[in-house]
Amino acid sequence: METKPLYLTDPYLREVEAEVVEVLPESPNRWRARLDQTVFYPMGGGQPTDQGRLAFNGKEVKVYQVMLKEGDIWHYLETPEPPPVGTKVHGAIDWNRRFQNMRVHTAGHLIDYALYRLGVSPHPLAPTKADHGKKSFVQYAGTVSPALELAAVEAETNRIIAENLKFSWEFTSLEQLQKDAIYLQPGLPTGKPLRKLSLETIGSVADGGTILGTSGEVGAVKVTRIEEKDGRDTVVWYQVP
Ligand SMILES: [Zn+2]
Repeated sequence: METKPLYLTDPYLREVEAEVVEVLPESPNRWRARLDQTVFYPMGGGQPTDQGRLAFNGKEVKVYQVMLKEGDIWHYLETPEPPPVGTKVHGAIDWNRRFQNMRVHTAGHLIDYALYRLGVSPHPLAPTKADHGKKSFVQYAGTVSPALELAAVEAETNRIIAENLKFSWEFTSLEQLQKDAIYLQPGLPTGKPLRKLSLETIGSVADGGTILGTSGEVGAVKVTRIEEKDGRDTVVWYQVP
């Protein structure tokens, strides 16, 4: 049974009632479990893993990481006694950690939307990768350095934040996304629904991370530098807590 990823439809869900469908040993006192549905975001797309707790049969165990492995979502548990298959569990994510990850991930998209409004993304700068962890950056194939001014990128991003625009999302086909999206990253899976993320008045992209409801919740963004290396521009920034 495939795990239903509830965080893709409601990123503000903090808790879940679920059933254990598979459990495997990892190392002494460590196990990984698959559930029928989850609110835990698995590390990926530059966004760090969720952490939290699973409660079952009157006890509670720590979920220290959540990973995608061969297309399945695995909850890594720190416990000598994992819940057996069929156990009903109550899962709760560490919300402060997740909300901060959501802010940073969303801010990364706002940087890219800002570059789009500045007329440089997705051409001549094609988004290639991003990280939304401790060192946040968005990297592009192509370069417009030094014409791309740090102050302009920062001001445009914070303008989008001040406009407090609404995000919305829906599941759709790759064909539909090819028509609707500002750009599509290479290697998107075919033959399965993809999530289209839209920021009102600006545009849509394909995205599977957890996202805030509005741009305003990001707070503020500080761009620290724009680097050019081997024909690639990288915007390095942080979300101001
Ligand atoms: Zn994303």
